[in-house]
Amino acid sequence: MALEDAFRHITDPEERAALISVARLEVARRRRRSETEAEQLKRCPRCAKEKPRSAFGASVTRYDGLQGWCRECRSRRHPKNQRV
Ligand SMILES: [Zn+2]
Repeated sequence: MALEDAFRHITDPEERAALISVARLEVARRRRRSETEAEQLKRCPRCAKEKPRSAFGASVTRYDGLQGWCRECRSRRHPKNQRV
């Protein structure tokens, strides 16, 4: 991505450099945020393990949109699998 091009109209080289560095930071920050959202870990209170959000089922009633327990724990809770 050519950030320099976006600030070509700014004639003061110092000002341009400052704006470019700010824009770079902002781009990096946004990228990092979307990455962490996708890979965000959620702690399962039952097995006490940090697991990716994908390891939890979806729940519309929970504040974070995910089930409280991970899929593994939820399936273990099933009477058939209780003694593991
Ligand atoms: Zn669990």
